[in-house]
Amino acid sequence: MKNLRQLFNTGIIISFVLFISVQAKSQTNIKTNIDRDVLFPANSSSEIGGVLGGSINNCINNGVMARDYLLYIKPFAEKLDDGGGFMGEFWGKWYTSAALAYRYQPTAAHRMVLDRSASLLINTQDSDGRLSSYPKTQDFGHWDIWGRKYALLGLIAHYDQTGDKKSLKAACSATDALIGIAGPGKQKLTETGLQIIGSLSSCSILEPVVLVYERSGEKKYLDFALYLVQLWSEPNTYNPKGMRLVEEALTGTHPIHIAAPKGYEMMSCYEGLCELYRVTGDPKLLEAVVKFGKSVLKKEIMIVGSGSSGELWCDGANRQTEILEQPMETCVTVTWMKLCYQLLRLTGDPLWADQLEVSLYNSLLGAITPDGSWWAYFSPLTGERMPSPMQVPVCQSSCCVANGPRGLLLTPEWSVMKSDAGPVINLYSEGKWSQKLKSGNNLTISQETNYPETNEIIIHLDLPKPEHFTLSLRIPEWGKNTSLLVNDEPINCQPGAYAQVKREWKKGDRIRIEMDLRGRIIRAPGSLNHLAVMRGPVVLALDNRMVKDENYNLWLLPRGTQWNFKDELGGLNYVLPSPCITDDSPQQYVDLVPSPSKPENVWMAFEVPFLYRYTHFFDHKQVNLVMCDYASAGNQYSEKNLFRVWLPQPIFMNDVFPENTWRILYREGDTRPEIPCMFE
Ligand SMILES: [Zn+2]
Repeated sequence: MKNLRQLFNTGIIISFVLFISVQAKSQTNIKTNIDRDVLFPANSSSEIGGVLGGSINNCINNGVMARDYLLYIKPFAEKLDDGGGFMGEFWGKWYTSAALAYRYQPTAAHRMVLDRSASLLINTQDSDGRLSSYPKTQDFGHWDIWGRKYALLGLIAHYDQTGDKKSLKAACSATDALIGIAGPGKQKLTETGLQIIGSLSSCSILEPVVLVYERSGEKKYLDFALYLVQLWSEPNTYNPKGMRLVEEALTGTHPIHIAAPKGYEMMSCYEGLCELYRVTGDPKLLEAVVKFGKSVLKKEIMIVGSGSSGELWCDGANRQTEILEQPMETCVTVTWMKLCYQLLRLTGDPLWADQLEVSLYNSLLGAITPDGSWWAYFSPLTGERMPSPMQVPVCQSSCCVANGPRGLLLTPEWSVMKSDAGPVINLYSEGKWSQKLKSGNNLTISQETNYPETNEIIIHLDLPKPEHFTLSLRIPEWGKNTSLLVNDEPINCQPGAYAQVKREWKKGDRIRIEMDLRGRIIRAPGSLNHLAVMRGPVVLALDNRMVKDENYNLWLLPRGTQWNFKDELGGLNYVLPSPCITDDSPQQYVDLVPSPSKPENVWMAFEVPFLYRYTHFFDHKQVNLVMCDYASAGNQYSEKNLFRVWLPQPIFMNDVFPENTWRILYREGDTRPEIPCMFE
């Protein structure tokens, strides 16, 4: 076995040679069946500004590119997962983030990191192609195949970004080695991995196997992928009924009852099915993933766009008002977003872009520390934020710290996409995007906006020659009163659909969108009596930096509430009780006024009207409380900075913020983790 230092030295020489020959230019060698995709990434340059752009830059500079990736290669070189660990996942998770960072910012420095790290990993590969962090005697150990999956995804990302055939060759031979031990007649992958999660981790290798087939064109990889999916339907020792991922999805089974309820690993298997659909065109596979995505959305996804409790599906949509143990693993947030991105590409249904936006602005940005260097493992809807513990000290990381950037750095990929008819704008944000149209014309789209803080979005188009095409603009499902103007001419648009504007576009064309950012009152799916407030895609939360504990009850005060009696001089003021809103009640709104002051690091804060009822007919009055965006709520990551999203009606202000919820975010007996300093 080569030691790490030898690998490192080889890497430096290879990197240097590559560095002098490399142009700082992102290429793409993805030869996918994009004709199955309705929307596809624009492969263009983009620069996202504003608060979101700042978070992306922090994530790249202080997170991904500040990491010592030698720590992730070491488990492969020295087989450190001897005994059942999952250190094998870190290299590929980090690498796929680094590849996204390079796509977004194709600098020579980022390219050097990609090239060097890939060649160092390849140097750990055995002569028979085996690429694992487990010793050979422990093939199929708990997370062996899972780690191999991430290594393959990393190598494929290197090939896609650079065209380096060595990486594709390494990925092919690693897959050959896997087929050698897990192909037909050999060990079934459905009976490997950690038994308690029912082989979902091993089976998620489907995704890179199909990607290797797409890139190599070698049928043996497609055959293996089809064989693996066939195994899912067969009874086995881990799952006596079989995993039945396709069958259960098609019948709309609650995700909690499919195979084993491990959210992240389960969704990873369906990501593989998306790739398999891309190469086979079998409509049943797409139907299964769409139905699965909709079941997850309906049954498990909470208001901030993530799910799980203790990493497992938990009937989360219904249970989200409770104080859950270890809610919303960041790995679940990221994998849900990646699945939504797949479904957006394959269906063109803006539902999935709406979900991406909600997850981005709430659960995902809520889980990254303000400097971008670290992530939360779990994110509650009530309580406090806690940084991820240093789960694997040897790799200076945790599963969620490694995964967070894969979600955030996906943003440029889905923000502005392409379709056969023309460009598609999914994300409204300060920034600039360029893409080459089919004609060869270069289109630049610039957005001037503070959205989602403010509601106006101005979009400027720039292209050398006028050209006919359809520009699609996502009108979010919640935006019932959205207005759209093209060169001051009103255009009809429907919420929950793309506004498709077909015309001859020319330099200087200007689009103005006014988003409907009225405060919406959201009823908890599982409790008539719990309400929350959303403003556009942003969920609002009470935060104890802005709300003093008071000893009274308050009721959220919807817009249009009638005072049954109001005496400006005396105390006889009252609002009579009304029933809880129900599923079929019309959408209620609440007036929001930007708060004149807010703590540092809080992005958005609004005064929200509540009703105080002293007694039956006397002294009812409006009291305003300040609520901020969920991602900013609790972002001091301290046990003193508490917040809550769901508001029982009435809410008892003396007991708004449960304390010490960090104890149910981590194991009993542990001390509260701190954000590690990554810059020493
Ligand atoms: Zn995780």
